[in-house]
Amino acid sequence: MHQYTPMIQQYLRVKAEYLDAFLFFRLGDFYEMFFEDALKASQELEITLTSREGGSEDRIPMCGVPYHAAAGYIEQLVQKGYKVAICEQTEDPRQAKGVVKREVVQLITPGTVMEGKGLQEKENNYIVSISMYTGSSFGIAYNDLSTGESRASIINGSSDLLLNEVSTIGAKEVVVDSNFDQILLKTIKDRCNAIISFEDKVENNKEFSEILSELVTDELQSPALRLLHYLKKTQKRSLDHLQPFSVYETNHFMKIDYYSKRNLELTESIRGKGSKGTLLWLLDETATAMGGRMLKQWIDRPLISESDITKRLELVETMIQHYFERQDLRELLKGVYDLERLAGRVAFGNANARDFIQLKNSLLQIPAIIQLIQQLNQNDADELAGELDPCDDLTNLLEQSIMDNPPLTVKEGGIIKDGFHKELDTYRDASRNGKNWIAELEREERQRTGIKSLKVGYNRVFGYYIEVTRANVHLLEEGRYERKQTLTNAERYITPELKEKEALILQADEKCVDLEYSLFMEIRESVKTFIPRLQKAAKIISELDVYQSFATVSEARHYVRPTFNKKREIKLTDGRHPVVEKVMGSQEYVPNDCIMDSEKEVQLITGPNMSGKSTYMRQIALTAIMAQIGCFVPAVSAEIPIFDQVFTRIGAADDLIAGQSTFMVEMLEAKNAITNATKDSLILFDEIGRGTSTYDGMALAQAIIEYIHDRIGAKTLFSTHYHELTALEEKLERLNNIHVSAIEQQGKLVFLHKVKAGPADKSYGIHVAELAELPKELIDRAADILTELESENKNKTKTKETDQSSQHLNEQLAFFGEPAATKKELGPEYKVIEEIRTAKLLEMNPLQAMNFLYEIQKKLN
Ligand code: ADP
Ligand code: MG
Repeated sequence: MHQYTPMIQQYLRVKAEYLDAFLFFRLGDFYEMFFEDALKASQELEITLTSREGGSEDRIPMCGVPYHAAAGYIEQLVQKGYKVAICEQTEDPRQAKGVVKREVVQLITPGTVMEGKGLQEKENNYIVSISMYTGSSFGIAYNDLSTGESRASIINGSSDLLLNEVSTIGAKEVVVDSNFDQILLKTIKDRCNAIISFEDKVENNKEFSEILSELVTDELQSPALRLLHYLKKTQKRSLDHLQPFSVYETNHFMKIDYYSKRNLELTESIRGKGSKGTLLWLLDETATAMGGRMLKQWIDRPLISESDITKRLELVETMIQHYFERQDLRELLKGVYDLERLAGRVAFGNANARDFIQLKNSLLQIPAIIQLIQQLNQNDADELAGELDPCDDLTNLLEQSIMDNPPLTVKEGGIIKDGFHKELDTYRDASRNGKNWIAELEREERQRTGIKSLKVGYNRVFGYYIEVTRANVHLLEEGRYERKQTLTNAERYITPELKEKEALILQADEKCVDLEYSLFMEIRESVKTFIPRLQKAAKIISELDVYQSFATVSEARHYVRPTFNKKREIKLTDGRHPVVEKVMGSQEYVPNDCIMDSEKEVQLITGPNMSGKSTYMRQIALTAIMAQIGCFVPAVSAEIPIFDQVFTRIGAADDLIAGQSTFMVEMLEAKNAITNATKDSLILFDEIGRGTSTYDGMALAQAIIEYIHDRIGAKTLFSTHYHELTALEEKLERLNNIHVSAIEQQGKLVFLHKVKAGPADKSYGIHVAELAELPKELIDRAADILTELESENKNKTKTKETDQSSQHLNEQLAFFGEPAATKKELGPEYKVIEEIRTAKLLEMNPLQAMNFLYEIQKKLN
């Protein structure tokens, strides 16, 4: 280290504390990066890599960005998931002895972004902290630094539940202690696409007492404290806007695991990242960013309390009935700025005068909003209106103090209104009088000299001057004017009187600027005291915004208000898949009924490819979710139970896009549903069992159906291409077959997308081949083979089990391209078959199943 120059030594000392971040090291007008940081940053940011002497033998790699353009570069790095430490000069270089003092003033991380593109308007930016306790229980705390929202909860159960919760929150960053379970940490990182940070400090400081007031147990406090210490350490500034942590319980919401959310495309589409084609996209008619964020939160957490749901539905219905009030409300809401994030910027010290004007204009909408809401004449609406605080005192303060069109910068004046502050007015008068005097001077001098073109001007270098064109110079009175500057065609002069006034004006201007800045800072401090009130108003406005959004979509798309029953019955008439309907247009879409009562717990859906099986299943899940977030639903009438959980699993072959189409994943998710579902759950299994060979897949599919039917009793929709499964209807009391129909019309296969009772026609594949005009001879032969196979199948069920097993092996081998073994040749393999046959698959965990398979494979090789 000693070989380096003092400045590089200083750099290295600071860097040692921020090894996992890019260190932006302030040098004059630039932030510089050195060594590894420089190599990496020059690539990531596509900026030039240079080098400098640093006392060592080799030159030190270096790259830098000008400080006034740094925000954009910082944003880029943070969006890529990096952290950036900002190291500033903390003393005036002119006064420094030796190396200028420098300190890191802020660590910007993906979870702590306060502004810029890293922050989506209609999306929260959450950072989560986890404390792990014995007995697989976890404490989690999270907040959005940009809005101040803070929550905490305890998760009891497996790490799956934790993973699920962290991905529901959509955390950008996860903070844990340095001893946290490595394997779990990696899973969190991969699954949630979050960066990991470490913080061991969980001491309870007094300063946190208010924000922790609702957290009564150590288990809840620990993660919250970890998060607060981390934020304090990295942000190094006021966190006054953080709201007290509120406790929530995951059990108070409908559970939808990560995969189901993806499959149903609730807030993220499967292809591509954006929200187009998702439920969120469909329902988002919010007029404010805050409302947009609340809508996403509601979709992420549907309710399970009927009274809470009904309260939302009542408000939506009221808004549907009041068309004109709703339109007016939308207009008013459009004028409301992001109060939550503004509050954050005020606390952080980033808010400027323009923000205050927007704040004022937003608050000015509130009285009219209150009035409108009262006109709805509904109890809950009245209550909301009553709680909505227009913050009059704040509006008045801003109205009196801040000019209407202030500049972006807060340091150059032009912000504070006349009449707000006496001293400021005095300086301004002085400045204005001086300027008037100067304007008057021009008139006087013209008169005195008789030069019509004489003028008085100002520039930064010479101050005020009198300008006379060269041709007129001889008219000036000798000795009265002092020449200051010579231009091509003119001369510029000053007089002692002029300079005197100039000094007064400049002094007054300077005082104005200084005073305005400190007044602005005072106002900002006053605004800070309003933060909790602003946050409360923001919440109510967001809620109103979501209701009007639901009402707008429900009306436009002819949705109906759902009713709930405790008999666990689904009765939908003319139900639709809301997103598919919107995309294709309602004329094209074929509505379908769905009746599932206590006699019909499981629906087995058959039908050709592309007939609409998946769409039908999803529309039922989406309808349940929409109902439970308090929105109307796409049907003509809808009666449903309240579901505690929704599970969806799409067979591996259909899930190619996910890039993890392994049969193992399919089975893991099936297990997840089977072990967690209750009779109050909704399960969608879409072509489960496709990821393996026919008999395997079919056997598993059947076993799964039987298990759900006999042991769980959850409402289940099971689509399958295994036609054989339709025979289950005879065996399982509460299972019924339905199919999605298609017909042939003038030689073309036409999908009717109509769901009907009973199983689909089994020779459909051959029929389609016929339509595709494969040779007639080939089609006939296929029909013959089908008949043969079917009769064989019938015989087979009558033969002994052992025969069946060997038959299985034959088919399996054939499937893998091996010559089929005859029964006699089986010999030792027979033992293996027995092992497989008697294996208790349902009692194995996935790893045991893998090991079992491995052992079997070893025996066969
Ligand atoms: P399957 O799962 O049976 O293969 P999908 O549910 O994926 O079929 O539907 C295939 C396509 O058919 C969808 O992309 C959609 O365009 C169309 N479709 C499905 N259901 C309907 C419907 N009820 N009305 C109109 N078109 C539909
Ligand atoms: Mg499908």
